[in-house]
Amino acid sequence: MLRNLPMAILKVTRLGHPVLRKVTDNISVKELKSASMQRFIDDMIETMKEYDGVGLAADQVFTSKQLAVLEVANNPRYPDKGKVPLTVLVNPKITPMSDEMEADWEGCLSIPDLRGQVPRYKHIHVTALDRDGHKLDFVAKGFHARVIQHEYDHLNGKVYLDRMGDFSTLAFLQEFSRYWLNK
Ligand SMILES: [Zn+2]
Repeated sequence: MLRNLPMAILKVTRLGHPVLRKVTDNISVKELKSASMQRFIDDMIETMKEYDGVGLAADQVFTSKQLAVLEVANNPRYPDKGKVPLTVLVNPKITPMSDEMEADWEGCLSIPDLRGQVPRYKHIHVTALDRDGHKLDFVAKGFHARVIQHEYDHLNGKVYLDRMGDFSTLAFLQEFSRYWLNK
């Protein structure tokens, strides 16, 4: 029987742990619908909110599965960004809708205290399953597209540093606020 346990804040993996560099495993619909997976999804959402993340991939909480959660809503780490509704992406696939890219700041809960400018596709087409196993099919642009590309990279063993190309904007948060914010 399912008990109404309170949700749990999970420990977040930091860069250097091998799980962040593995390609994660697909999730079957049967596994997705299991009580333990549904509970894990709730815990991921709770963990993302606790640390003011705009997204969290399962391998960031030591679970090598194709699952990510995202939400942007009045986030103190990203105060100037448009809202993104709470979304659970299972087995996501993304396709750029054009070659157009733009650079903007990213941080990562697994790479604490740093920010850097990362080029990302501006418009992407996303297919995935939601937490109930229903098909998702949508277009994302701007910061929404950026967050999805960041999480999708995690599920494929990559982090934003791999996408920077040049590290001249890489900054600690304190220096980011002092020298880069609003410039
Ligand atoms: Zn990250």
